[in-house]
Amino acid sequence: MLRSAAFLLAAASTFAVDFSGTSAFKYVAKAVEFGPRPSGSEANQKLQNYILAQIRMDGCEVMEDPFTASTPNGAIKMDNIIAKFPGRSGKAIVITGHFDTKLFPGRKFVGANDGGSSTGLLLELARALQRQPRIDDVYLVWFDGEEAVREQWEGEDNLYGSRHLAAKWRKDGTLARVKALINVDMIGDKDLDIKRETTGNAKLNTLVWDTAKALGYGAYFLDQTQATEDDHLPFLQQGVPAIDLIDFDYDPWHKDSDTMDKISAQSLEIVGTVVLEVIHRLEH
Ligand SMILES: [Zn+2]
Repeated sequence: MLRSAAFLLAAASTFAVDFSGTSAFKYVAKAVEFGPRPSGSEANQKLQNYILAQIRMDGCEVMEDPFTASTPNGAIKMDNIIAKFPGRSGKAIVITGHFDTKLFPGRKFVGANDGGSSTGLLLELARALQRQPRIDDVYLVWFDGEEAVREQWEGEDNLYGSRHLAAKWRKDGTLARVKALINVDMIGDKDLDIKRETTGNAKLNTLVWDTAKALGYGAYFLDQTQATEDDHLPFLQQGVPAIDLIDFDYDPWHKDSDTMDKISAQSLEIVGTVVLEVIHRLEH
C-alpha cells in the first residue's frame, strides 16, 4: 500500500505530461479573435500582451526581445517573447514558433494554422511545463516577423525575429548551451501529415519520429521529406541542432480560408504531446 502510493507519487512528479489539445485549441481561437496580426499592427501588439499575461501565470521567467526591423515597408517595431523554465544542467532546449500573420492589405487573413497554431501550442506547452521538474533550461520562444512583408518570400524579407534572436544569443553565449531547437509551424491542420524537413538536424528528426511512433502517432509523421525555409534556419546556420516541424500540405495556406474550422484540437495534441516527450527524452 505504502509502496504503491510512493511509486504513484514518484510517477506523478516525473511524468506529469498532460498536453491538452482542447486547451491549445482555445489559445489559438483567442489569438485568431484579434484578427489579422501582421508585425507592427495593433492586433499584433494586443496578442503580445495576451501571450505575456498568460505566461506570467505559468511560473517561468518572462523575457522580451524588442527590436526594429528594416523591411521593404520601412522600419517596423517587432518583439520576440521568451519563457524560460530553468533547469540545473547548464544546457538548454528551445521550442519555437511564430505569432505574426502574413500582411495581406485589404484582406481578412487571420492565420488560424499559419501563426495561430504555433502560438496556441506554445501557450499550452508553457502551461504543461510548469508542473514538471527540469534538468535542462527549457526556453519557449514566440517569434515576431516570420512572414515576408512583401507578397513573395525573398532574400532577407522574412525570419526577422529568429534572425534577431539567433544573433543576440550568439553574442551573449546562450547559443553554445542549446542542445536542441525545435520549431513548430502550421501544425494544427485537421488532416495532419508532417514530412521530415531536409535541412534540419538528422539526429533530432530521428528522435522526434521515433518518439511519435512510440506514442502511437507514427501515422502522422510521414516517411517523406521536404525542404522548408523557416525560423529554424538562422539557428542551423549558427551550428545549433535544429529542426522544423511543419505540415505544409494545407490548401488554405495564405488564404482567407485559413480559419478555425480547418484545424483541430487533436492535431495540436498530437504534436504537443510528442514535443513534450521529446523534451523529456533530451533531458535524460
Ligand atoms: Zn505563412
